[in-house]
Amino acid sequence: MEKQVGKIIVVSGPSGAGKGTLIQAALRQCPEIHLAISATTRAPREGELESGAYYFLSEDDFKAHIQDNAFIEYCLVHGNYYGTLKKEVFDRVNVGTSVLLEIDIQGARKVRAALPDISGIFITPPSLAILKQRLIGRNTDNTSAIDIRMKQASTEMAEAAHYDFVLVNERVDSASDELYRLISQISCLDQVN
Ligand code: 5GP
Repeated sequence: MEKQVGKIIVVSGPSGAGKGTLIQAALRQCPEIHLAISATTRAPREGELESGAYYFLSEDDFKAHIQDNAFIEYCLVHGNYYGTLKKEVFDRVNVGTSVLLEIDIQGARKVRAALPDISGIFITPPSLAILKQRLIGRNTDNTSAIDIRMKQASTEMAEAAHYDFVLVNERVDSASDELYRLISQISCLDQVN
């Protein structure tokens, strides 16, 4: 009998597009999909140590993992290292569990180059104007930080063309249902074939 292999699903999109919220909502509906925990050198934010949001590593430990070739990909994002550990993904995929990676655009490019069979979902806000309103409404960034994020966002939006699916986050409830539908469709492909 042929061995069942899980799917690798990469989700990216500009900051403020609402990726985290949609992923959490979609995965509540399909708990059989594993959300990969990334490693990072950035300091934990409140509540993150308890929630297991990341593997928080010192820079020396992170670099030791790079030397050991332990990452599928790693990147420097805003001065901190972030990376996807091979073990985190392949231990699951090899026993038939699909794994979702929420990573930035540079990381997604590297994963795609290393593993051409992955499926990519790009989450985008309905427009740059709405993204700006959301960033202002979030009240976590000052005006110059919002300007930087807006510049990044317009460059990042051009990456959408390299993904298999583009999901416009107009309303959280319908967009998370759509994400759930896409994830189910992708992760069931092996069972159909
Ligand atoms: P935050 O520090 O806000 O949690 O994440 C900052 C950025 O790093 C986000 O764009 C997030 O998608 C990205 N990121 C998180 N984990 C990884 C990873 O393992 N690899 C890469 N390349 N980016 C990541």
